[in-house]
Amino acid sequence: MNLDEGVVLKPYTTFRCGGPAKYFAEPSSSEEIRELLSFAKEKGLPVLVLGLGSNMLIADNGFDGLVIRIGKNMSNISFEDTGDGYVEITAQAGASLASFGTRCAGEGLEGAEFCCGIPGTVGGAVFMNAGAYGREIKDIAVSAAYLLDGEVRTVSADECHFGYRKSIFEEMAGEGKDVVILSLKARLKKGDKDAIKAYVAELKAKRCASQPVDVPSAGSTFKRPEGYYAGALIEGSGLKGFALDDSGAQVSPKHAGFVVNNEGKASAADVMRLIRYIQDKVYEDSGVRLETEVRLIGGDGR
Ligand SMILES: Cc1cc2nc3c(=O)[nH]c(=O)nc-3n(C[C@H](O)[C@H](O)[C@H](O)COP(=O)(O)OP(=O)(O)OC[C@H]3O[C@@H](n4cnc5c(N)ncnc54)[C@H](O)[C@@H]3O)c2cc1C
Repeated sequence: MNLDEGVVLKPYTTFRCGGPAKYFAEPSSSEEIRELLSFAKEKGLPVLVLGLGSNMLIADNGFDGLVIRIGKNMSNISFEDTGDGYVEITAQAGASLASFGTRCAGEGLEGAEFCCGIPGTVGGAVFMNAGAYGREIKDIAVSAAYLLDGEVRTVSADECHFGYRKSIFEEMAGEGKDVVILSLKARLKKGDKDAIKAYVAELKAKRCASQPVDVPSAGSTFKRPEGYYAGALIEGSGLKGFALDDSGAQVSPKHAGFVVNNEGKASAADVMRLIRYIQDKVYEDSGVRLETEVRLIGGDGR
């Protein structure tokens, strides 16, 4: 396993922002992750677990610690027919969620169609309880395996504290624990392959028609405030398509809930300035304080 220094993180996020990591590694096993965590502990370094970086805004001065990227080196997906009309799927955390969804559809399994258009890893999706079109990871999860304090543990879906874009792993990370999700076990019903594939195509078409999928972003910038839609509030404040300057940071003209980074030329500070502006303007106009869904790494997260 390589342990690299000074790796610029911008290419490792879909927002295309972010400075260097002091140390960076892409492990292939829980043993290697354990070694990395011991190394960080010895050196007193903070740890950032990175999936596909599709829900992160990393500051321009980067991350002064160890970035552990869980990606293609840990991306195996396996299927086990349980003989009762269901199949259990075990996906390593680094597998892409889209390929997980596509593989399940290809096997004629229903219920994971929503995964096909979400551009993260399985680990990031478990951490965030990612979801779309009325379904979330919690609806398909049986259990998750993770590494904490040098030990591999398993937690059932019920114990995962899944909520709107949150999980027990997000809680642990919030308490300063270095937790690394290793895999997800899901259970899906066998169904009609053609109908499942048609539904996947329908959801993809819906997403492409309504979201700026071809421009760098981290998806929905803000959480859905109770009783409202962030995009509608932003649009209501006249900010659809709005930019503060020509930095590249803009409220998407296609979907006001997405801040985009046109041509990937905006810095994290440019994006952050626009996020703060939106939060203040929407608050002024509607009394609702938008909270970021995008996780702010370094910089002035508030
Ligand atoms: C165009 C676009 C559309 C999107 N649409 C949706 C959508 O419809 N629904 C939705 O829910 N999200 C959506 N997102 C947001 C994003 O794709 C999801 O939140 C996704 O689950 C994040 O996965 P990731 O691997 O990229 O995580 P990252 O962004 O890398 O990380 C997110 C958080 O998870 C933690 N994490 C990641 N992997 C692990 C691991 N193995 N162990 C422990 N912690 C880990 C990180 O530390 C971080 O705190 C969209 C994003 C984009 C760019």
